[in-house]
Amino acid sequence: MNWDNSVLIWDLDNTLYRITPELADMLDAAMAEALVYDLGVPLDFETTKAKVKESYKIFRDGGEVFYRDYGISPKDLFRTYNYRNPVEEIKPYDSLVEKIIKLPLRQYVFTASNRYASEKILQKIGLYEFFKDKFFSVEDFGCYKKNESADVYHKLCETICTKPKDCVFIDDSYSNLEMAKKSGMKTVRIFYNDNSTKDKDFIDYAYKGVNAFVDDLIENLNIEKA
Ligand SMILES: [Mg+2]
Repeated sequence: MNWDNSVLIWDLDNTLYRITPELADMLDAAMAEALVYDLGVPLDFETTKAKVKESYKIFRDGGEVFYRDYGISPKDLFRTYNYRNPVEEIKPYDSLVEKIIKLPLRQYVFTASNRYASEKILQKIGLYEFFKDKFFSVEDFGCYKKNESADVYHKLCETICTKPKDCVFIDDSYSNLEMAKKSGMKTVRIFYNDNSTKDKDFIDYAYKGVNAFVDDLIENLNIEKA
């Protein structure tokens, strides 16, 4: 694949760092805490956490059950949950920063975390300086998800003065990739276990972990190796 002149649009969570099963469980707990302690859902913490997990399984959104059955607003959960993100538990990849900063391509981050959490996450993984004026949250475009329509991808392209066809969108989530593809971007899926992308025509390329993709870029862009 020739990646020359591509504009890379990176997902943040579970792409530029890994959400391990342990971290996923902490994130579920953080969401349950936001629901019970910040937003007053009338359930105990453990019941709420179990419902968050169930909601993820059914709707790919831990909050959906609470929007439907408990009158919680997505906006309020987005804000309170992001403030409780256990960022300190994130384990950065060893040499990812050095590799990313030497790619001779325009690069941005586009995340479904809010600005507060994504700044902290970028700092934790060592990429805040590099992306500090090049990261966007869905909240910058007035929404809380990036898997509902292709519109937000068009808005992002307008903001960064580029066209979807010139962008490569890198994400772990099928539904995000589907919307990015709809907007006209090329798509790269980062996976961790099985590559189950063969039957999905909205995925152009798939790599096991972000380093495999970055190594491929470095190889094919003919960058001098350190
Ligand atoms: Mg992700």
